[in-house]
Amino acid sequence: MYKYNDFDESFVRNRVAQFSAQVARRIDGSLSEEEFRPLRLMNGLYLQLHAYMLRVAIPYGTLNPDQMDQLAHIAEKYDRGYGHFTTRQNIQYNWPKLPDVPAILSDLADVEMHAIQTSGNTIRNVTADHFAGAAADEVADPRPVAELIRQWSTDHPEFQFLPRKFKVAVTGATADRAVVRAHDIGLVLKRQDGVLGAEIIVGGGLGRTPMVGKTLKEFVPFDDLLPYLEATVSVWNLLGRRDNKYKARIKITVHEHGIDDIRARVEDRFAAIKPSFGGIDMEMLREIEGHFLPPIFADKPVDAYTRAYEADPVFRAWADTNLAAHKAEGYAIVTVSLKKPGQTPGDATAEQMRALAQIARDYAHDELRISHEQNVILPHVHKSNLPALHAALKAFDLASANVGLVSDIIACPGMDYCALATARSIPVAQGIATRFEELKLEHDIGALKIKISGCINACGHHHVGHIGILGLDRAGVENYQITLGGDGTEDMVIGDRTGPGFAYDEIVPAIERILLCYLDLRDGPEETFLAAYRRLGLAPFKAALYPAKEEKANAA
Ligand code: SF4
Repeated sequence: MYKYNDFDESFVRNRVAQFSAQVARRIDGSLSEEEFRPLRLMNGLYLQLHAYMLRVAIPYGTLNPDQMDQLAHIAEKYDRGYGHFTTRQNIQYNWPKLPDVPAILSDLADVEMHAIQTSGNTIRNVTADHFAGAAADEVADPRPVAELIRQWSTDHPEFQFLPRKFKVAVTGATADRAVVRAHDIGLVLKRQDGVLGAEIIVGGGLGRTPMVGKTLKEFVPFDDLLPYLEATVSVWNLLGRRDNKYKARIKITVHEHGIDDIRARVEDRFAAIKPSFGGIDMEMLREIEGHFLPPIFADKPVDAYTRAYEADPVFRAWADTNLAAHKAEGYAIVTVSLKKPGQTPGDATAEQMRALAQIARDYAHDELRISHEQNVILPHVHKSNLPALHAALKAFDLASANVGLVSDIIACPGMDYCALATARSIPVAQGIATRFEELKLEHDIGALKIKISGCINACGHHHVGHIGILGLDRAGVENYQITLGGDGTEDMVIGDRTGPGFAYDEIVPAIERILLCYLDLRDGPEETFLAAYRRLGLAPFKAALYPAKEEKANAA
């Protein structure tokens, strides 16, 4: 993985020193909260409902074991013993004390991490396919491009005061696991006539106006990629609506001007700035690529895996749900679920983080990833090591066999922590997961993505959940709207709203009615919830959700 050079090292250390001085001035009263606010946001420090929250970037979701150990150390020493992995491949600490923040940032710098540009109207942490470098369906590893974008966008002088925040995601595989069509810019790496490049998708986003990104250009060769991205952000930086923050995101600019107009402006700007890059971007990319060479894969038998799979039903259930196909013979990608029914989705204790770091050292070529689905990935595990790895996970309560099932729910922090929340989301996720564990229906139901947001900002990606839940405030009372049929993959679809919302104590039974209806109407166990919804449409699910209303309508 990428190692800091002298520039990265001194940039991050200087920022720690600068922010430490700003914190000291805030504590001694020479800076007011109003003056301090933009300074702390530049360094990922939010003021939430109960305390400060520090959001730390995990670039394109990639961690080494020493970094994971350091995240555990920070959780234990400065917070309440746990961290929360987010839907944008960050980790959030919910209880840091202001005087400790400089020391936290210094500890992060020791392992080449920081919290810069995890807030504010800047280009945020670049996210990527969490199976990068390992997936069987990969055309190109997205991490070198993501790192190039990280370096280009960090402290970019033109892009520090954008109209709004700006999010970039990169995938290099056939299946979109990075939700690229819901980002301000999404890149799909491709090979065309032997040349590597990217399809540029622009103007996707969720929030109060969900939109599926549109293709700005089918193929931009790597030679032109950085100037093309700079041209795109630059066009929006001038056109974006600074008069209304709800209309400032690039999705609205694309919608108001039309994709053809934006494309023409980007092409003009690209032609003007391309010569100034002078090839330095490609030199950087080549240098970065050297940091992402694949590990040396072992060529050995997988008998231990086969024996355990046949003999141990617990191991078999876990292997069936938590493993994905690897590009190397004899290897698997492991998803470690942070969704044990009843726990807060995406939370890991310091002890669990340390265990994961050691497991990565012992069995996974020293690599870990954080997925936008709030799980931890061990991308390179030889199958012969899987039984021992599974036993190690069990010892730390990390062996839930539920990846991609009902209880593998994405949920934002909601009203438990977030100052913008209009409703709770974590307890709703816990309630659904616990209920379906009681019903023992999770494996019958099969593949399902439930996503929950605690307000219209949609950090929980509810619009693209097969079942989406949005918590709102109706006259001081929590009310939950349901959407069905959303999909965050390469076939991205925004879900359909079912109708009136549900009170907090009605939402779990409502989800149960939807899923019992699905079990009733599906063509067989092979037909997933999403496939059944696409075949049947909203009507039967609506009838199951609002039975009293349907009866009244039939009686009339
Ligand atoms: S969706 Fe709303 S409540 Fe949830 S984390 Fe985002 S801003 Fe906070």
